[in-house]
Amino acid sequence: MSTGHSDCGCFNNPAEQMLSADEARRTLIEMAHPLGDAEAVALSDCLGRVLAADVVSPLDVPGHDNSAMDGYALRSADVGEGGARLPVSQRIAAGHPGDPLAAGTCARIFTGAPMPGGADAVVMQEEVELDGEVAVIGRAVRAGENVRPRANDIARGAVVLQAGTRIRPQMVGLLASLGIPEVMVVRRLRVALLNTGDEIVEPGEPLAPGQIYNSNRYTLTATLQQASCEVVDLGQVEDTFEATREALLEAARSADLIVTSGGVSVGEEDHIKAAVQAEGELSLWRVRMKPGKPLAYGKVRETPFIGLPGNPVSAFITLCLFGMPYIRVAQGRSEAFPLPQRARWPKAVERPLKRREFVRVRLDHAADDLPLAEPFPRQGSDVLTSTVWADGVLEIPEGMALPGNSILNYWSFGELLA
Ligand code: AMP
Ligand code: MG
Repeated sequence: MSTGHSDCGCFNNPAEQMLSADEARRTLIEMAHPLGDAEAVALSDCLGRVLAADVVSPLDVPGHDNSAMDGYALRSADVGEGGARLPVSQRIAAGHPGDPLAAGTCARIFTGAPMPGGADAVVMQEEVELDGEVAVIGRAVRAGENVRPRANDIARGAVVLQAGTRIRPQMVGLLASLGIPEVMVVRRLRVALLNTGDEIVEPGEPLAPGQIYNSNRYTLTATLQQASCEVVDLGQVEDTFEATREALLEAARSADLIVTSGGVSVGEEDHIKAAVQAEGELSLWRVRMKPGKPLAYGKVRETPFIGLPGNPVSAFITLCLFGMPYIRVAQGRSEAFPLPQRARWPKAVERPLKRREFVRVRLDHAADDLPLAEPFPRQGSDVLTSTVWADGVLEIPEGMALPGNSILNYWSFGELLA
C-alpha cells in the first residue's frame, strides 16, 4: 500500500498525507471489511440488496422441450426430401401437455407448449397447408428445428447469480422464474451521518444573515439510501469540541460506519479532526483533486469513520469516488468501483494540473463515435447546480499536458451511485 510519502517530501505530520485520488480510493478499499452478516428477505424486498450466497437453480429452464413457434410438431424422420402429408392427431396448447406422438402423424402446437413424446421438430404454420385434417409439408425437416430444448437457458444446479451481486430488477424476475421466494442478502450497512457547521440551517427554517441551508445532510442521506444503507441520521452538530465528540461517540455506538461532512479543514472551527483523534485514530488526507481536497479516514473507538469535506459539491463527489467504494466492499459487493467509460475532452491542457480535476460534464453523443464531454460553466465546489445539470464526471489527470480532443475517463452518476 502506498503511503503517498514519495510525492510529498514536505509534510512532517505523519497523520497528514498527500495522496492521489487513486491512492486514496485504493487505501479505503483496503481498509474496508465485508460485513458478513446475512438475512433472508422476500423477493418483493430484495431489490438493491447484495446477495450473501450464490443462487443455485433448483430447476431446468425450460423444464421441458417446447415449441418456439405456432405450427406442427412431428418426427423429422417421417418427412422425406420432398416433404410429407401427415394427419393431425392432436392439439397441444401451452400449459397442456399432449400425448406421445403416433408415428406418421403430427400435432398442432403453439409457442411454449411442451413437445409431445417422439416429436423432434416443429414446422411453423406459415409453411404448412391444411388439406382437411392432413398437414401438407413441402420440404425436408431437420431434427431440432424450432424446438427449444429442456434446460436450454438454465440447467438445474447451475449458479445463476453470484454472491456479491447487487440485485437489479431483471434479477428479481429471474429469481421468480426459478420459483425462488426469498434470498439470503447481506445485512444493511448502518451508516451514521452527522453534519457540522454553525452556519447551517434546516430547510423550513428562516435564514438569518450569513446562514445557509443544510444540503449535505440530504444529498448524503439520499446517496446512502440509494446504496441500500440504513442511515442513522444524527443531524447537525454544534461547532464545539465537546458536542462533536459526544456526537461521534453516539455514532460509534449505533453504526457500522460514520460519515461526516465539513469540519475537516484546518480552520479553528473544524473540530472533527481533534474529536476523532481524542476518541480514536485519524488519518487526514489532502487528496490531489478538485473538488474535494481534504478527506479524513479513521476510527472512533472501533467504528470506521470517513470525514467528507463541507463544500456541497466536494461532499457529494468524494462520497461517490471514495465513500461508495468503501461501502461496496463493506456490503460484500464484488465490484468496488465501476470501470470508466471513455469520452473526448475538447480543450487542450497546456500547463499540467497540480490536482486531478473531476469536471461535471454532459456527454454529447451526436458528434463522434466517442462522446464529447461538455463542462458545466461553473465548476466551483459550492455550485451544486453543476451536479444536477451534469450526467457525470470527466477525469482530467494531474501532472501532464494534453492535446485538445484527448480521450479521458468518464463516470456517469448512475454508475457511481449504483
Ligand atoms: P467546512 O469544511 O466545515 O469548512 O465547510 C466548507 C464549506 O462548506 C463552508 O462554506 C460551509 O458553509 C459549507 N458546508 C458545510 N457543511 C454544509 C452542509 N451541511 N450543507 C451545505 N453547506 C455546507
Ligand atoms: Mg465548518
